[in-house]
Amino acid sequence: MSMAIVLPLAEKPKGARATRPAEGQTVRRADSSRPAAGDTLRRARIAFEDWLRNALRLASEGARGAEGLSFPRVAIEAELAGSRFGAVDIESRPPYGELAYQLARLDALAGNGRWSGAAPGELRARLLDASLEILSLFSALEAERAALMAALDPLTGLGGRRALDDCLQQEWSRMQREGRPCAVALLDIDRFKDINDRHGHMSGDQVLARFAVLLRANLRSYDGIFRYGGEEFVLCLPGVQAAAAQRLVDRIREAAGRAAFATAAGKPLRISFSAGVAELTAAAAPTQTLEFADGALYRAKAEGRNRVYLAAAAPRSERPA
Ligand code: GH3
Ligand code: MG
Ligand code: MG
Repeated sequence: MSMAIVLPLAEKPKGARATRPAEGQTVRRADSSRPAAGDTLRRARIAFEDWLRNALRLASEGARGAEGLSFPRVAIEAELAGSRFGAVDIESRPPYGELAYQLARLDALAGNGRWSGAAPGELRARLLDASLEILSLFSALEAERAALMAALDPLTGLGGRRALDDCLQQEWSRMQREGRPCAVALLDIDRFKDINDRHGHMSGDQVLARFAVLLRANLRSYDGIFRYGGEEFVLCLPGVQAAAAQRLVDRIREAAGRAAFATAAGKPLRISFSAGVAELTAAAAPTQTLEFADGALYRAKAEGRNRVYLAAAAPRSERPA
């Protein structure tokens, strides 16, 4: 007898109903608690729980049910890898590596006939052992995500000043430890108040949200993008020196100039921004580097806006002896 356990990870078809599977029947889960598309962390967990429920049922039949225990590890991992915590990649969170390891272990345990001959009670105990660990790792990831999401700016989905501080501190110590450079850019949308005044605050909000999308589309996944204040954004660019960062931000400036922004009423809108760029150095604390970038931004504004300036290097007198 062969029993297939199918755990569809795609969205359920409209109108699908939950049914209790009969013995030997293909199991299709379709309950109303299925998460929205995009919530792949929850989908991965639900796929795992579905499998576990069936596996426990089959395990109670001992070796006879063991052949149905094939573990959908690849599908679960694909859902997991697609999860994002705001702008943060799931792979960078510590419980992720441990979870991937435990899923691989369970896969090896559940795979190919390893269960044959095991008593039902022992099967269930071993399954539960491995699965409880996995469920607690899912919970740890969910808790991390909740904490990260709570700290995100709801309008743009970007981190704020605290996340920026964390990022700059991390890159500053890495720069000193490993010599990896890191550029910092402070961007300020030009004449943003005019957009609010002419088209209303909602249009302004829409521009800010769209601007965040444009930044994300033009940067690498591991670049930090933060909302620093109203219409001010900070980029943290690991591995990039100041001069290259200036060219990079200038290309984004050109892209922003070409991009189709719109008012809340759908009227097309053009925007520009000015920016100052500086590079983290051992001689200056990250907050000081931000001030250097701010100085360059100030000059960019004063000299006509819609331009990206490089900060002068930290003056010698400010370097510690
Ligand atoms: P400049 O080119 O010199 O930067 O001029 P600006 O008009 O962009 O700068 P200013 O600092 O005079 O105005 C910024 C405006 O941004 C004022 C404030 O009301 C608006 N603002 C700040 N936060 C938000 C927000 O979340 N939504 C909207 N719609 N407007 C915001
Ligand atoms: Mg401003
Ligand atoms: Mg501005």
